[in-house]
Amino acid sequence: MIAFDLECPQGHIFEGWFDRNESFEEQNIHGLVRCPYCDDSDIRKVMSPVAVRRSQPAAAAGQEMIDYRRLAKEVVEYIKNNSEDVGVRFAAEALKIHYGVAERRSIRGSATSDEEKTLKEEGVDFIKVPFPVSDDDKTN
Ligand SMILES: [Zn+2]
Repeated sequence: MIAFDLECPQGHIFEGWFDRNESFEEQNIHGLVRCPYCDDSDIRKVMSPVAVRRSQPAAAAGQEMIDYRRLAKEVVEYIKNNSEDVGVRFAAEALKIHYGVAERRSIRGSATSDEEKTLKEEGVDFIKVPFPVSDDDKTN
């Protein structure tokens, strides 16, 4: 993008943004460039134009790239190593633990949306991860 300082016959100076240098000329010939103050289309470039190039910050590309696949794998590994796989019985087990019927422990598994709703209603804390952490899920 290039910014020009533009001026109308009334002396209003405003900034116009164009994708390239020629765009101003093309649009101005067709009267498409107008003063935002008085709507005059007789616009000229101010002689010492401030040209600003807005390119993609080169440094940003490729830097700070998070490897989400690796991250996801690590999260899955962590969960697998630190919880018991209860598979599709997740909701039932979570409720049992919640009410002290079953031993308090970390579990993982899958739940249907209805089961999730029940868990929420019962005030059971759980987190959802967007990838299978239960061995049961692999058969799906
Ligand atoms: Zn004007």
